[in-house]
Amino acid sequence: MGSLWSILLGCGLLVAVAGVVGSWLDRTQGSREHDSPAAPFSIEQAHTVMQSHCGCRADDCSRKAAAFRALVEAGRIVPDARADHYSL
Ligand SMILES: [Zn+2]
Repeated sequence: MGSLWSILLGCGLLVAVAGVVGSWLDRTQGSREHDSPAAPFSIEQAHTVMQSHCGCRADDCSRKAAAFRALVEAGRIVPDARADHYSL
């Protein structure tokens, strides 16, 4: 039973460290995190970006717009023509 608690404590520490590092990276990257990518996204990257930028509008966030375009081009998303903020 003691080893289970050790594993849980270890996982908790890893999550805490990841949270601290993540918040530090957010601060150091500044507004660049919403810039368009240097190269087109892969499908997996596009899905990750769409999730991490779920609070952004594609009109305002170049990164989310690039991810959205990648998913549309791959046939993973069919844009709703009535939703003007997702028009390409
Ligand atoms: Zn964004």
